[in-house]
Amino acid sequence: MHAHLKHDFAALDAILDRARELAGAYLEGLDTRPAAASLPPGVSAHIALPEQGVGALAALEQFHRDYDAMLSGSPGARYFGFVTGGGTPAALAADWLVSTYDQNTQRNGDTCASLIELQAVDMLRQLLGWPSAWTGTCVTGATMANYVGMALARQWVGHHYGRDVAAEGLHGLPPVPVFAGSAHSSTFKALSMAGLGRQSIHALPQQAGREAFDVDALARLLHERGEQPSIVVASAGTVNTVDYDDLAALAELKQKHRFWLHVDAAFGGVAAASPSRRALMDGIEAADSVTVDAHKWLNVPYDCAIAYTAHLPLQLEVFQNQSAYLPAPEAVPDHFLHLAPENSRRFRALPLWMTLQAYGREGYAEMVERNCAAAQRLGELIAGDPRWRLAAPVRLNVVCFAPAGADAAVVARMQKALHADGTAYVSPSSLHGQPILRAAICNWRTTMDDIDRTFAALQRLKP
Ligand SMILES: *Cc1c(COP(=O)(O)O)cnc(C)c1O
Repeated sequence: MHAHLKHDFAALDAILDRARELAGAYLEGLDTRPAAASLPPGVSAHIALPEQGVGALAALEQFHRDYDAMLSGSPGARYFGFVTGGGTPAALAADWLVSTYDQNTQRNGDTCASLIELQAVDMLRQLLGWPSAWTGTCVTGATMANYVGMALARQWVGHHYGRDVAAEGLHGLPPVPVFAGSAHSSTFKALSMAGLGRQSIHALPQQAGREAFDVDALARLLHERGEQPSIVVASAGTVNTVDYDDLAALAELKQKHRFWLHVDAAFGGVAAASPSRRALMDGIEAADSVTVDAHKWLNVPYDCAIAYTAHLPLQLEVFQNQSAYLPAPEAVPDHFLHLAPENSRRFRALPLWMTLQAYGREGYAEMVERNCAAAQRLGELIAGDPRWRLAAPVRLNVVCFAPAGADAAVVARMQKALHADGTAYVSPSSLHGQPILRAAICNWRTTMDDIDRTFAALQRLKP
């Protein structure tokens, strides 16, 4: 055995203790560390590969010394950029164990890991009040869950034309339109990966002042399609204003027209953890495939999302992985090897399982409501200050705003100035063609005090 491996084998406890100390120091410092890091100029992407190596403890120290200051405080209470969750204590502890256990979650048989994944996706389904007939598969993120949805839709469309696309490919089939309103960019990527093409998206008109699409316009287009199949991608929580497409109306349309309904509920789906918000997604039970992220509003560390579907047999057709040394594919929901884009798979369901066990229905309802109340308060503070403009009503947990009367350059400058100040981090976006800043509040740690500190920082900024 190589000398460093032999030494580290004997010193494993000391190495893990040091990692635990570094983790503790990072977590304790989250409140004072800048919300987002900045890289110094001149850091290189090239580093020499050592001949001998330095051993684990020295490598840990080296990383800590050279890079700690370049880590962002993204699991902290005031990182509001993009849609970024943190990690609950239970999820964090479980994630540490995932690497220790290092199970390959392919199927039930030689480990409980697949069983735990089944339990985790089923508990999440219960939390959100979704149909018990759905099955779920953990993937790395909502982009991959959207990809799974598009791949299943493709298979379903193929069947309409008497084609097994998974076996025979798409060539020669008529193009299929994908109707969507404010689809997330990852839907375009998913369509590219699925061979349907980014240009298959047919953008539907939005309702006035909303990010939800006009269902009547969709109904007319579906009517024109006659018997030909289409794909509809609905948003359950748009990233800017957390708007929801009218799923109840889509459920009704499904009675009359042939389309696959995919719902991207990456973070907005989690609003259903609070019973008072569940009506936003009335009709979701008509969906054929649904995306929800665990690493956003569920506060599980990266990377974890769930692809739900009501069509397990189609999923098996698309993702089955046959070989002499693997069991034959069967449509059972724990044969993840035959259901997921990946073959070898991390035990990424454990943090989700742990956090749902630890905090339950009430814990998640409390977090959702607290985050929404925090967004409401930030929105009120901004609306009450003439230097700022609230760019949209605060529906749930995202606040869209801009300096009053600012052009794109000023908005960009304010975003950078807040980043440099370090109190909080918000990301730039554009809404109805206007440049804005967005604060997405999805972290279990965030309190009203964090909102007051964020607003105080905004007031300090000079445009
Ligand atoms: C974040 C997000 C995605 C993409 O999710 P990843 O987890 O980053 O792959 C897709 N859709 C919506 C609505 C999102 O908010």
